[in-house]
Amino acid sequence: MQIIPKRSPLAIKKAAATPSAMLIRRTDVLLLMLEADATVSLANMPFGDVLSTERARLPRAAGSVWMAVLPTAHRTRVIVGELPRRTDTFQRLSIAGRMVRDLGATQPGVITLASLTSPNAKGITNTAPVAALLAALAAAVESQPTAKSKVPAPWQPTEVVVCGVIDTTTALAIESGAHLARWLTALPPNVLTPKTYQQALVKLAKLHGWKIEIFSEARLKKLNAGAFTAVARGSATRDAALVRLQYRPKGTGGLAPLALVGKGVCFDTGGNNLKSAKHMLDMHTDMAGSAVALGTLEALTRSRYPRPVDAWLALVENRIGPDAYTQQDIVTAANGTTIQVIHTDAEGRMILADTLALASRTKPCGIIDFATLTGACLYALTERMSGAFTNHSDLRAILEDAGNRSGERVWSFPMPTDFDEDLETPMADVVQCLIDGKGDHIYAAKFLARFVAPGIPWAHIDLSSASRTGGLAHVSRPITGFGVRFAVALCSDPAFHKVIRSHEQAK
Ligand SMILES: [Zn+2]
Repeated sequence: MQIIPKRSPLAIKKAAATPSAMLIRRTDVLLLMLEADATVSLANMPFGDVLSTERARLPRAAGSVWMAVLPTAHRTRVIVGELPRRTDTFQRLSIAGRMVRDLGATQPGVITLASLTSPNAKGITNTAPVAALLAALAAAVESQPTAKSKVPAPWQPTEVVVCGVIDTTTALAIESGAHLARWLTALPPNVLTPKTYQQALVKLAKLHGWKIEIFSEARLKKLNAGAFTAVARGSATRDAALVRLQYRPKGTGGLAPLALVGKGVCFDTGGNNLKSAKHMLDMHTDMAGSAVALGTLEALTRSRYPRPVDAWLALVENRIGPDAYTQQDIVTAANGTTIQVIHTDAEGRMILADTLALASRTKPCGIIDFATLTGACLYALTERMSGAFTNHSDLRAILEDAGNRSGERVWSFPMPTDFDEDLETPMADVVQCLIDGKGDHIYAAKFLARFVAPGIPWAHIDLSSASRTGGLAHVSRPITGFGVRFAVALCSDPAFHKVIRSHEQAK
């Protein structure tokens, strides 16, 4: 099984916003989004009479998906998604996901993506529905890791015609990054180990022109990263490492990078506080945060993002063993903070503590970390949304806005100062967590905040939506890759950069 997925980009062609009769005639499947109050009526497009008749035959509720066959030589199938009157990105992606779900069964060659929507006040057509279709199609045809002895031949359409003006380079860059994140997260734990992960990162760094720096356990010890190495020493293979990848577009030498940090626990047994079989079953996915940070770096690189970005991936396993750390151990993190260990299954915040401290030393303009960190966040939000936390009040609304625009929704939790009282202990500077688990997502964020150097704007995303039975939005598989679309939307937001710049000026 390969660690890096094979990827062949979709063969994209572009066409006018409304598909022509000639295009429809040579299309096998037309995916068509219909806005409820579209002024360009269905009847005006080629084969509109057939579609209008079919649409009128049964009540077509907003959000529904239906199909019609056109009288072309190809017997062109039209799959129509009915957009609700006030729609958002999550809804659009969800409808697009339902429209593409069964395409694999017939494996069409030429697929056309189009929408009938009303132009806005400036006369600009809304291209968001077609963008949602492109995202859903790319996710539907992507390869998935499997060890089946007979694997069905992979399918890709021969041609994808995108109707309307869409930045397909950025759209496909995001889907490529999300695919990488989903692929890595799905890999079995005996295939993706901290060691093989590092080897794959060396290859990816070469491919993308990233500088790579690997902090081995021995080097982390020298840097006094005692929280990270406490977790690392439970593993018999001792192959844990912190990997820093640097993306530096030309002419940005003087700019401070944005740091993306990811939790990469390749398998989490819980350590000495062992998980039950049911709770340990999917713990190979506990590296999703690192995959999202990496996938985001790849998406930004492929879309030629004009600013420098670092990814800091904390790769480790949380195992049981004679050297494994235990409850009541006291360890010292790289920034000198002493930590009293309360629960060995709270390993994520231990490795992130040192990663945030070491990333802080490089003086980034801002830090965003991604981690499948707490069950409490999952109980609070379910798998439909992820939790957001920040040390900068202006960022709260900006984070939620990026979530809404990308369709990967996040909800901001409070971080009031009085919560810090509960992390006090006479034995050390801070307790790792509370044993009763109440509000653990908030305490985890309060704990992490202590390892971010003062003044650096920081956001922490607790990835409760990294996996979900039945998938999420346009992704139909359980591993969602949630976070890549969100992070790219955040990085392209001028308001986000304003916050970061104000910090740089304050320095
Ligand atoms: Zn754990």
